[in-house]
Amino acid sequence: MPDDMSDLKLGFPAISMIDDGDAASAAAVVATPQAGGPATSSADDGGSHSRVIIIGSGPAGLTAAIYAARANLAPVVIGGYVPGGQLMITSDVENFPGFPDGIQGPELMAKLREQAERFGSRLIDVDLERIDLSARPFHLWADGKEYTADSVIVATGASALWLGLDNETRLRGRGVSACATCDGFFFRGKSVAVVGGGDTALEEATFLTRFATNVTLIHRREQFRGSKIMVQRALDNPKVSTLMNTEVVDVLGDQVVSGLRLRDTVTGQESDMPIEGLFLAIGYKPNTDVFKDWLTVDDKGYLVVHDETGSDVEGVFIAGDVHDHRYRQAITAAADGCKAAIDVERWLESQGLAEAVTASAW
Ligand code: NAP
Repeated sequence: MPDDMSDLKLGFPAISMIDDGDAASAAAVVATPQAGGPATSSADDGGSHSRVIIIGSGPAGLTAAIYAARANLAPVVIGGYVPGGQLMITSDVENFPGFPDGIQGPELMAKLREQAERFGSRLIDVDLERIDLSARPFHLWADGKEYTADSVIVATGASALWLGLDNETRLRGRGVSACATCDGFFFRGKSVAVVGGGDTALEEATFLTRFATNVTLIHRREQFRGSKIMVQRALDNPKVSTLMNTEVVDVLGDQVVSGLRLRDTVTGQESDMPIEGLFLAIGYKPNTDVFKDWLTVDDKGYLVVHDETGSDVEGVFIAGDVHDHRYRQAITAAADGCKAAIDVERWLESQGLAEAVTASAW
C-alpha cells in the first residue's frame, strides 16, 4: 500500500499525517497591508469597513480574493482559525490543473494565499462568529471584533462526516478516505470497504470496482437509503458484496489499514474483517450554521444560489462546496470563487460603490 494514499479531492479531509498544527502553520502568513483598495482599513482590530468580505479560505474563498483584489476591491478574508480549508489535511493533490507532478494540499493553499495577498487581500485567521445581513453595510463579528462590508462572499465549504473513531482519524490517508473519486486509484488490486447506505455509498462502491478486487458495502440497517437504481447497479456488480445490519466499531492497522472490527447491530456480536481500504460515505455537512437566520438552505442543508452566485440577500454571494453537493471539487470551488468575485465587482459597480474595472484586471 503506498504511503501517499490521500484524498485528492479538495474539500474532503483524507489524511491525518499532516496534523492540524502543521497545517495551520503552513498557511499562517502575516497579513499584508492592502494595496490601496478603496475603503478597507489595514488594521485588523475590528471596526474596519470593506468593499467585500470573503468568508472562508479554501479554494473558493482564496480564488475570490485573488479576483477581488485584482479588481482593486481590497478584500478582507475571514479565513478561520485553521485556514485553508480541508486541503490543509490532504497530502497529494493530483487532479488540480497545472501541477503535472501533483502538489501537496497545504502547499497549494499556501500558493493560493500568497497569490491573494500579493494583490492586496487581507487574510484574518479567525472564525466568523456572527453576521447581520438585515441592512447594508453588512455587519460581521469575528474573534470578538466587528467588521462592516458592502458585500459578502460566503465560501465556507462543507465537511465530510466521519464515524468519529480514533483509529479512523489516525489512518486517514493511510487507507481511510471519504472520497472514492479522489483516492480509488490508489486501491488497484486491493480489497476495500465502503460504509453507508445512501446514494453516495452505492455510487462509490460501484466506482471502486474499477480498481479494487472486491468492495464490501457495510450498512448499519437492513435496507439501503439510496435510490433503487443505484442499489440495483451496485448489487448487480459481481465485485460488490454487502454486510447489512453492521457497523464499524474500530479500524485496525498500525501504519496502514489492515482490517475492521465490525459489530452486528442485531446480535451485538463483534468480528474482525481483513481489508486494505475504508471509504466513508455517510454524508456531508455544509458549513452554514452562522448563516441560518439569513440565507435559505435546500433540503440537503446546502445554501441556495440564484443566478450562478447570488443569494436571497442582495450583495451577498455564494461560492464553492457550501452550495455545491454535486461536484465538490477544488477546481469547481475555485471557479465558483472567480465567478462570485466578478459578480461582486459588477454589483458594487451597479451600486456606485466600485469603479468599472477594465477587462484586463480579470
Ligand atoms: P445520505 O443519503 O444521507 O446517506 C447517508 C448514509 O450513511 C445513510 O445510509 C446512513 O444510514 C448512513 N450513516 C449516516 N451516519 C452514519 C454513521 N454514523 N454510521 C454508519 N452509517 C451512517 O447521504 P449521501 O449518500 O451522501 O447522499 C446525500 C444526497 O445526495 C442524497 O439526496 C442522495 O440522493 C444524493 N446523491 C445522489 C447521487 C446520484 O444521484 N448520483 C449520488 C450521491 C448522492 P441510515 O440509512 O441508517 O440513515
